[in-house]
Amino acid sequence: NLEVGIVGLPNVGKSTLFNAITKAGAEAANYPFCTIEPNVGVVDVPDERINVLAEMFKSKKIVPAAMRFVDIAGLVAGASKGEGLGNKFLSHIRQVDAIAQVIRCFDDPNITHVSGSIDPIRDIEIINTELCLADLDSVEKRQQRIEKIAKSGDKAARAELPVLEKVAAALSEAIPVRALGLEEEELDMLKELTLLTAKKSLYVANISEDEVSDYSGNDYVKRVQEYAAKEGSGVVVVSARIESEIAELSDEEAKAFLEDLGVTESGLDKLIKASYSLLGLINFFTAGEMEARAWTIVDGTKAPQAAGKIHSDIEKGFIRAEIVAYDDLIACGSQNAAKEKGLVRLEGKDYVMKDGDVTYFRFNV
Ligand code: GDP
Repeated sequence: NLEVGIVGLPNVGKSTLFNAITKAGAEAANYPFCTIEPNVGVVDVPDERINVLAEMFKSKKIVPAAMRFVDIAGLVAGASKGEGLGNKFLSHIRQVDAIAQVIRCFDDPNITHVSGSIDPIRDIEIINTELCLADLDSVEKRQQRIEKIAKSGDKAARAELPVLEKVAAALSEAIPVRALGLEEEELDMLKELTLLTAKKSLYVANISEDEVSDYSGNDYVKRVQEYAAKEGSGVVVVSARIESEIAELSDEEAKAFLEDLGVTESGLDKLIKASYSLLGLINFFTAGEMEARAWTIVDGTKAPQAAGKIHSDIEKGFIRAEIVAYDDLIACGSQNAAKEKGLVRLEGKDYVMKDGDVTYFRFNV
């Protein structure tokens, strides 16, 4: 499953948002094999298409795709120098696919800010600096090792050294690796280090509950958006308070509540969608009487590897995929009608999956 880590300074609304995520949580029965730790929340990825498919195929069960959020507490100014940024913190954050940084963009005199004032850019830079310092530490350790190996004439080590130097120089100026525009080759060399600042990242601007309908007057948000645009990161605007209220409601009630607020989707849904596009993810579907199910893959995945998401045996024994595009299927009204019109295609091992492919894999056991 895709995993997004939530970071941010204390008192910016991380726990509030995270609690909303856990409460909104996906049905545990759908994920029997993943034990849920207290700092992990699993949510359904909203995709209306799966309900439509379930109706068409009279499926007994609906299984949406899921996304995991990990609450990564413990990041404060100076953390990388002291105890704060311990091994436990690092091991959590190193595993995630993307990092969502919550930024306080609401004024509230009752809630103190760790630095005494509201200043989103300063906050972003505090966190980014800590992440850069943690990465610098990893890179420097690697440099020491690789230098020794390079001296013995090892070619790979010699090629890697200048990359490490370049990255170390940037990190010591608090420039994240993701902003360096490194070549694929260079990124491959760094892969093993699982650098934090090489991960995809987005900012979650946490605004006041009074502003969700219209935050055009929120200057903090504007500043975050400008900052993010410069480094090519995304911004999602939410009110953690509102999200925690929505999480208490049934689907119907939530819908009415959002309508009252004059917004079309919850902040959590926006966050999930933004994470999807940040990571270049798409969904394909399987549908039958048993269940209608959405599967997450990286855009560009070929049919056998997509089959591997379902089971490694299906990937190993892959013969062909029977595929119909979701829109074609809906336009025809049924799988049979789509077949008659020749819209159900047989695709081979080089087929690149598309978003919305309704798929049946043929395979050898
Ligand atoms: P954390 O330390 O980052 O996990 O922050 P918390 O989630 O504990 O939030 C800190 C305080 O800010 C709590 O008192 C929250 O109720 C409050 N808070 C969080 N989000 C909002 C919001 O959208 N509006 C307002 N007014 N307060 C919020």
